[in-house]
Amino acid sequence: MQLSKFEQQNYSNLSKGFEGELKFDVLTSNLVNDCLVLNDLLLKTNSQTFQIDTLLLTNNLIYLLEIKNYVGDFYYKSDRLFMKDQLEISNPLIQLTRSESLLSQLLNKLNYTIPIQSFVIFINPSFTLYQAPPDKPFIFPTQLQRFISTLSSQPSKLKNQHKKLAEKLVSLHIEESNIKQIPSFDFQLLRKGILCSNCYSFITKINGMKCICTSCGNEELVETAVVRNIKEFRLLFPHKKITTNQMYEWCTVIPQKRRIQKILQRNFKQFGVRQWTYYE
Ligand SMILES: [Zn+2]
Repeated sequence: MQLSKFEQQNYSNLSKGFEGELKFDVLTSNLVNDCLVLNDLLLKTNSQTFQIDTLLLTNNLIYLLEIKNYVGDFYYKSDRLFMKDQLEISNPLIQLTRSESLLSQLLNKLNYTIPIQSFVIFINPSFTLYQAPPDKPFIFPTQLQRFISTLSSQPSKLKNQHKKLAEKLVSLHIEESNIKQIPSFDFQLLRKGILCSNCYSFITKINGMKCICTSCGNEELVETAVVRNIKEFRLLFPHKKITTNQMYEWCTVIPQKRRIQKILQRNFKQFGVRQWTYYE
């Protein structure tokens, strides 16, 4: 659907952030020492919520890592962070310091005394920070590989209590905030069609049993693509009934309604009869 300027900016920030976290996940998956990695935690202590991008638990230290996927030239001045065009953005250190303090309070409450070390990780190789004070816990793209190697070479032997702590933190994770960030949407306002499973462009070409993406050349069975698209509908509209007519409109690129009906019959459970038929 058409996003407002604000929503577009928000979406772009979120997806860039997510991309950065994925890149960092690839790096942490190469760690060879005994440690636990927890991603994307939303926790609460003393009625204050705080978010953790990555928490790395080793036997004698907790690494609290804030991942930033900023691109371009930035500069640092009096503990504030600016883009080259002088636009100020919030200093990630402030958020990190707050998270560290709240995490430490939470650990206290849970009777754990493991020291925390926090870092802001700038993951994008196209990021430059001018006037960066060397005493700040920043890890720049050129230092990242060394940071991971150092981490990986530290001997660590996790005990049962570490696993218990990790489980406890995961169990305390709050599953809500993302919902609030989704703009409201309506079936009528959404562009209909099937997105390519590889590059997310709209599919425009059907060739026999296959959907062909004209943007990236990816091929997928029509049936698989339609089922995938119906599942997306179900995720977006959990309270709407899945009917042949509605799915015909939703998939739009499939020229025969009968074909949609057959796919529904083969892949979903049918309820009701004739014009009242729907699927789950
Ligand atoms: Zn594609």
